[in-house]
Formats: sequence, structure tokens, C-alpha cells
Amino acid sequence: MSKTAQSVWNNCLEFIKDNIQPQAYKTWFEPIVAVKLTDSALSIQVPSKFFYEWLEEHYVKILKVSLTKELGNNAKLVYIIKMENTYGNKQPFTEKIPSSNRTALKSQEIDVPLNNKNPELRNPFVIPGIRNVKIESQLNPNYSFENFLEGDSNRLARSAGLAVAVKPGGTSFNPLLIFGGVGLGKTHLAHAIGVDIKDKYPEKTVLYISAEKFTQQYIESVKKNNRNDFIHFYQLIDVLIIDDVQFFSGKSGTQDVFFHIFNHLHQNGKQVVLTSDKAPVDMQDIEQRLLSRFKWGLSAELQHPDFETRVSILKNKLYRDGVEMPDDIIDYVAKNIKTNVRELEGAIISLIAQSSFNKKEITLELAKQIVEKFVKNTKREVSIDYIQKVVSDYFQMDIDTLQSKTRKRHIVQARQLAMFFAKKFTKASLASIGSQIGKRDHATVLHACKTVDNLSSTDKQFRKYVEDITKKLSV
Ligand code: ADP
Ligand code: MG
Repeated sequence: MSKTAQSVWNNCLEFIKDNIQPQAYKTWFEPIVAVKLTDSALSIQVPSKFFYEWLEEHYVKILKVSLTKELGNNAKLVYIIKMENTYGNKQPFTEKIPSSNRTALKSQEIDVPLNNKNPELRNPFVIPGIRNVKIESQLNPNYSFENFLEGDSNRLARSAGLAVAVKPGGTSFNPLLIFGGVGLGKTHLAHAIGVDIKDKYPEKTVLYISAEKFTQQYIESVKKNNRNDFIHFYQLIDVLIIDDVQFFSGKSGTQDVFFHIFNHLHQNGKQVVLTSDKAPVDMQDIEQRLLSRFKWGLSAELQHPDFETRVSILKNKLYRDGVEMPDDIIDYVAKNIKTNVRELEGAIISLIAQSSFNKKEITLELAKQIVEKFVKNTKREVSIDYIQKVVSDYFQMDIDTLQSKTRKRHIVQARQLAMFFAKKFTKASLASIGSQIGKRDHATVLHACKTVDNLSSTDKQFRKYVEDITKKLSV
């Protein structure tokens, strides 16, 4: 009896079914369609990229075992991803699926040889033992320029991003560093740049990665003794997007390896895009040579959106979700949530949810309750930077003075207060507080906290300082 894609797959399914939970089988295996069989390669069609990633992450072993049983040691599995949007079809390695399945959908094939004893290139995104030659961009197509609304607060960063997308590596914005506080759209914009480049230049290798994941991969590569493969992998990329590079602070090994990768990419005209929660001048514990590289290109800030921009972000979101909401409620939410787009969206989502779960009408009263919750919950998020700013403003000095080495009494006291509040209001360690407030050690911070405690119980004036600043920090 000759084997067909269907018969091979049915046998695999039988084996898989016996070895996993029924619900998991239903969810992850029933939707798969066996498409073709050539030599020892079976092509299966999966509904989305997410689906493919999930299979790779959770079921790669059982797939491998079952397929090897059917097709022998050279068994290969090819995923065909049905893309729900046109984005995927512009990628390299695309092959059309048989016309009978094609309808309006596009497909993308990912080749995963199951047998790989001697990879000459290790791709840190792939589960050990399985090689994936193609570098997946890790981009989220939902984060596009189109739905990144423009306003005064983001115009520079947004247009720089667009310029980079038109000519990756070919503008003076290299690297492009996007910086700004939490929830202001750094990640969104970083993806949008990548998505747009991929759209315009399907042949370019684009990679989005968080600095945290990059760091983990690097540590892993050192452990496994393949640091060079790690570097080599990253040097192949045309557009490297690293999110939240402040995560590199204090991690000198990762900084070092990134420095080499950066230099290589930059020299070869490749584009680097970075995001960070602060401007390069304010970054702590990042090597000077790396900071100077960051400044080679353009640093563009994402600021707090103004009222009009907040309203248009909300309206756009509601429009995309197909929800209608009275203008006065939108205005109310936009007026009261100012500093974080993620919270702005969060408030509107919970407003929609509340009203639909409880069958309540969306009223101004309901909006007030929800906004209050959001605003209250965010009060506690105080950063060490913010504490230093509040304390130095209070004493009318600048942050440099607060951090300086001087022994002048009023400056020392201000610094000690900043340390005390950093301990009280953040989760940072003594060492990290010390390093951020004038590069002191943990013992100095500990001493500062004790001093503030003592002085506030013995010195009336000093107690007033503590009370005033506490109030300012809790507003
Ligand atoms: P960050 O990385 O700076 O913390 P994100 O990129 O995660 O922020 O953005 C938080 C949320 O706000 C995301 O859902 C994002 O889509 C949305 N957002 C931020 N800025 C805009 C904007 N200008 N237009 C539309 N949505 C935005
Ligand atoms: Mg982010």
C-alpha cells in the first residue's frame, strides 16, 4: 500500500491522540490538514503562525516521534501557515498552497528538518535539535503605522520610523533610538517599523527581540559554549530591533556582545532600531562606548500624548472594535488618563466589558468609577528617577547637584531623602538605589535610610521635609 499524506498523518494522529489530553488533541491537532507528501517530507497546514509556534513549543517531540515512526529518520515536517492577512504573503520562502485551498488566504511555508545532527548555524529561536534556516521576524502585524496615531507627542519618532522603513540602513537615523515612559508606544512603534520594512522589502531579514530575551539567549549561548554562533546569527540580520535596552544596564557581558554585533551591522549598512525607557544621557550602568554608539543616530522621544491625540487614539480603538460610545464619555476618559496610552486603552476596554457583562448602559457615572480605579492603581508606580526629580525640585536644586560628591549638608540631606524614598516606594535593592542616585554603594543607602529615620523623629524641620515630599510623591 503506498503512503499518502492523509494516511501518514492519520497514523501520526492515532499515536498522538493516545499520548496527550483529549482537549489538547482537539484544540491543536484536529484543525490541522495534511496537504502533501514528497519523499519523506510531510506538509501540514495550520491555521496561524501562533498555532505553528505553539506546536513547535509544546508538541515538537511527539510530532517528531510519530513522524519518524512513519517516515524514518529523514522525516521532515513542513508547516504551511494560512495567514489571515496579506502581510504574510510578502515574506520570502512563500509558496502558494494548492488553489483548492487558496480562497482569499495566503500561505507561508516553514521548513523544519527533524533530523539535524550538525547545524553549522545555530538559531537561538529554535528548540535544540531542530533547525529552522529561515529567521522568523517575531513581529506583531497588529502593530502598524496605520494604527499608530500621530500627534505632537510622537511626530518626530513616528516620522523617523517611517523614514527608516523607507530606507533601512540608508538614513542618518542609525541607530534609531525611541525612548519614553511606560505605555507610550515604544513597542508598538518598533514593531510598526519592522512590519513596514518587511512589507516593502520582503527579502530583508528583520528581527524584533526584547533586550531581556536577547540577554537570556546570550547567557544560554555562553553556557552551551556557542557564543560565536550567537554573534554570527545576529550579524546576519538586516534590520535588528531591540526593545527596552535599559534592560542591558549592569549586564556587561551582554553589552559587550551587543557592542560587537552593533558595530558589525552598522559597518555593513544594516539598520538598528532600539527602544528605551530613558534618553541615553539618563541611562544607568551602560558602558560609555555603547552609549556613544546610541548617540550616533537619532534619539527620538515619545512624550505624553496631548488631549486631542488621546481622543483620537480612543476613537480609533473603539472604531476598530466596532463599539460606539458617546463623545462626552470619551472626553471624560481622555481628560483623566493622561500619562499612559496603555491605561487609556485599558480603561476603555474595562468600560466596554463592565457595561456588557452587567448589561449596564455606558454612563458618565460608570466611566467615573472605572477611571478612578485606573488612576488610583497607578499612583504607586513611582520610579527612582521620578523620586530624584521630586526631591531636587523640592529643594530647588538640579539632579546633578543632588547626585554630586559634595559634602554640603543640605545636599547630603536631599540625597539621603531621595534614597530613603526610593527604598520606601520602589522595589529596588539598596545596591541598585545607590547606583542610580549618584553611584553610591549599598552601605551608603542603608546609612541614609537610618539617618532619615532618626532625623525625622528628632528634628521638626526635617520631619516636615519628609511629610511634604511624601505628599508630592503620593499625588
Ligand atoms: P511601551 O512599549 O512604550 O510601554 P506600547 O508600545 O506597549 O508602550 O503601547 C501601549 C499601548 O498603547 C499599545 O496597545 C499601543 O498600541 C498603544 N499605543 C501607544 N501609542 C499609540 C498611538 N500613538 N496610537 C495608537 N495606539 C497607541
Ligand atoms: Mg514596551
